Amino acid sequence: MSQQGYVAAPPYSQAQPGMGAYQGGFGSGPTQPLYGHYGGPPQAFSAPPAVAPAASMPLPAGSSQYNPNVQQNDCTDSDRLIFLEVQTTNMASPGPPPTQQLTNQMSSMNLGIQGLQSPPPPASSVVQQPFQTPPPSTMAPPQMPPGLQSPHMSPLMSPPQSPPESMPMASQSMAGTSMAGMGRPFPGPPPPGPGGFQQPGLGSAGQFGGYMAGPQQNMPGAFPGAQSAMAGPPQKKLDPDSIPSITHVIEDDQVKQGGQVFTTNIRGQVPPLVTTDFTVTDQGNASPRFIRCTTYSLPCTADLAKQCQVPLAAIIKPFASLPKNETPLYVVNHGDTGPVRCNRCKAYMCPYMQFIDGGRRYQCGFCNCVNEVPVFYFQHLDHMGRRVDFYERPELSLGSYEFVATLDYCKNNKPPNPPAYIFMIDVSYNNIKSGLVKLICDELKTLLEKLPREEGMETSAIKVGFVTYNKVLHFYNVKSALAQPQMMVVSDTAEMFVPLLDGFLVNYQDSRAVIYNLLDQIPDMFADTAESETVFAPVIQAGVEAFKAAECSGKLFIFQSSMPTAEAPGKLKNRDDKKLVNTDKEKTLFQPQKGVYEQLSKDCVASGCCVDLFLFPSQYTDIATMADVPSHTGGSVYKYSNFQIETDGEHFLRDLRKDVQKSIGFDAIMRVRTSTGFRATDFFGGIYMNNTTDVEMAAVDCDNGVTVEFKHDDTLSEETGALMQCALLYTTIGGQRRLRIHNLSLNCSSQLSELYKSCETDSLINFFAKSAYRAILNQPLKNVREILVNQTAHMLACYRKNCASPSAASQLILPDAMKVFPVYMNSLMKTAPLVGSTELSTDDRAHQRLSVMAMGVEDTQLLLYPRLIPLHNIDVNSEKPATPVRCSEERLTDSGIFLLENGQSMFLWLGQASSPDLIQSLFNLPSLCALPELDNPLSRKVRSIISGLLEKRSNSMKLQIVRQKDKPEMLFRQFLVEDKGLHGGASYMDFLCYVHREIRQLLT
Ligand SMILES: [Zn+2]
Repeated sequence: MSQQGYVAAPPYSQAQPGMGAYQGGFGSGPTQPLYGHYGGPPQAFSAPPAVAPAASMPLPAGSSQYNPNVQQNDCTDSDRLIFLEVQTTNMASPGPPPTQQLTNQMSSMNLGIQGLQSPPPPASSVVQQPFQTPPPSTMAPPQMPPGLQSPHMSPLMSPPQSPPESMPMASQSMAGTSMAGMGRPFPGPPPPGPGGFQQPGLGSAGQFGGYMAGPQQNMPGAFPGAQSAMAGPPQKKLDPDSIPSITHVIEDDQVKQGGQVFTTNIRGQVPPLVTTDFTVTDQGNASPRFIRCTTYSLPCTADLAKQCQVPLAAIIKPFASLPKNETPLYVVNHGDTGPVRCNRCKAYMCPYMQFIDGGRRYQCGFCNCVNEVPVFYFQHLDHMGRRVDFYERPELSLGSYEFVATLDYCKNNKPPNPPAYIFMIDVSYNNIKSGLVKLICDELKTLLEKLPREEGMETSAIKVGFVTYNKVLHFYNVKSALAQPQMMVVSDTAEMFVPLLDGFLVNYQDSRAVIYNLLDQIPDMFADTAESETVFAPVIQAGVEAFKAAECSGKLFIFQSSMPTAEAPGKLKNRDDKKLVNTDKEKTLFQPQKGVYEQLSKDCVASGCCVDLFLFPSQYTDIATMADVPSHTGGSVYKYSNFQIETDGEHFLRDLRKDVQKSIGFDAIMRVRTSTGFRATDFFGGIYMNNTTDVEMAAVDCDNGVTVEFKHDDTLSEETGALMQCALLYTTIGGQRRLRIHNLSLNCSSQLSELYKSCETDSLINFFAKSAYRAILNQPLKNVREILVNQTAHMLACYRKNCASPSAASQLILPDAMKVFPVYMNSLMKTAPLVGSTELSTDDRAHQRLSVMAMGVEDTQLLLYPRLIPLHNIDVNSEKPATPVRCSEERLTDSGIFLLENGQSMFLWLGQASSPDLIQSLFNLPSLCALPELDNPLSRKVRSIISGLLEKRSNSMKLQIVRQKDKPEMLFRQFLVEDKGLHGGASYMDFLCYVHREIRQLLT
């Protein structure tokens, strides 16, 4: 009962020194915690979730608005439906419309709904739709479904019950949303598209059998070359506005939740969309910036999970950047004994530990083990059974925080050295000739001043080193005492070693003069080189050896121009073969070559050596193999094909600057613990796994996202919910060993409707992208695409069957939280890795595949649904960001100017009839290859939009300017993801119809 064991520490609601100075027990805090929830009375999160189900948790005043789930347990399922097809038609007209007019009406449906004054909605807002006609037969998909022809649209059943203002997008609190209808778009099953997009459904395991039609012609966005002859009556063009739109969903969420505070005090609450601009206050669960889930309500049993086929996964970005107005993580010090952990499952102290027995013991929320409270950690409980120091200890009241790690958590029980960055420059002929070497050397002089440093520190603790290479490696001694740098050459690349220890890795500030000298000399030293061959694996090996010798972790920045063909370990040869595309052997194009690089990844991870590769290829370089080590060490691969300094130099430098300055942790190992009943079973990311539970990363930066899949191993309890704790052990940029903890609590339900209601489409698509991109290593692409479509149909069919109120089979009913899921899924299937086309570069496909594997939710969202921003009508004086439009040719206008970006590429599209004044304002003709800095409002506005985007994105993007109907426009058009794919793949509309048909088959 002694209190003297308690480590006295200042309450962390007080102003504290910055992170890093944590010797005072809790260490750091922000100068001012946001919204005063720590200093203030205990107003929120008043009980550990383990004992209080979310619905009955006391809420702080004003927080209920962020808590849609709690209040809605009693609403009917109809409020989460979207009706496609005929049901809404008589919203616009009081009586059932004659059948033959239906198609016409459908195209104007949305307008009709929004302007609706009469008839009034039924008195009861929860009325079910009593369909009197039997569900239409599914035997005649090519024809208009019987449902369309039957006069079953009495006002009683069809108007959705929501008031007009809730149209067209669903609101969580509104009772019902209708999308306008659309007709039957499949007049006949055309053959699979010539572009190679084999429609799924063929030859599948039987579960989803049946021949399916290919992409439809005569659709908006149909690609030239599609067959146009069709059976059946001519179809009216469908109104694309009638199908769910991602831009609307994004806008809608921004209006609803933008600028607001998201408080994480409620279990299982679905966060705002990843695209929405909001502020997070941590009150017991990790911010959605750190963890997002595919659903926030897990099904209670494995059977339910299997039934719905909705993947249960979390996307964890342990080092996500926080906006300036959010509190950085507190650092907690539990002293010499290390962080308090459960004896059995080793979970770290967190808000889910329940203190009992007067505070002497606590029950673990993960494994239920009852643990003694260590003497130093004892604290009395208040009348509610909560420790009186609840608000003073981040680990009791917050979702995310850090622990100081003791020597037990360090390699060889020794505190780590600060990490090092080694710059390894290929000085072969190509890189010298292009001016790249000089560009890099000049840039490093200023960039090295900006190496990341611990908050509050004046200089960076990161050491730097330099290597140049072609067929041999040159190491440089840049010790501060030297007047001139010294070069040491290693030509035996088979047995790589580091020829010098002292003076290779140095503190930049100390050795600045020698380093400057070196960087000035390098371009001249190799100016006359004729050497065009390079090595690659020995370069990485040299980095590993250097880190081993210096007993530190760190990162290699490798600037390489070509495939390594010189005689050395890891020598590669051209194995590109377009004949493999669309065959069962296509997967080999994505597989890295085995052997040297496999072992190298292992060595790198073991010594905390992250590899970033900057590639400047003029031809095929076998990226699948060259990027193998970066992709297993948390590194990035940047590719600048046919690099030219004038057009690509700035783009490359922006990438390099961002990369060097990123916030990052080294030599990391991550473990995801869960409460009983489910567990993490699969991991996707820039990671390495030696066993089934420990996720190893040589480094993890603010953009790295690890996707974790969960499976049941028992029944989950609705009462206690499901808990997860992600613990990441790593070395800071200052050389401190820390544990970063993120906790998240989810709901559990035996009702599938709860699961669907709590789905997060952006997270789902991140999971599907990564799992598909991994699957193509082992399976034919056709199978992978089939699985994606089948699972989409299955998820939606299960919703339809179990959660939606009865309705005509001709209706496509989508859960509100997943209404734009099909757009993303279709876009995913049209991405370069998944579409079998000989026109695509093998390296580009491999590169995209590997980039996506390490992405977080924001990045996959943007990649799969680019922003298309009209610029011709922007208000140059407005502060408001320009509103994007849907990614479809339909949205382009001949007189328009549009900006398109997806986080990887950026285009400025100029319509052929765009106003000469606009062009003049932007370009000062005739130069159209770059955007000059002109002194007029439009030019300033457009450039500020572009620079704003470049700042925000993790990669720099090269602005490509394309004119309508010019040849390069094709590059741009492939990003209009709602249209038919350039290299195969259906339009969004076709895909939706196709999925609908699959669903109908599943339901019969
Ligand atoms: Zn435990």
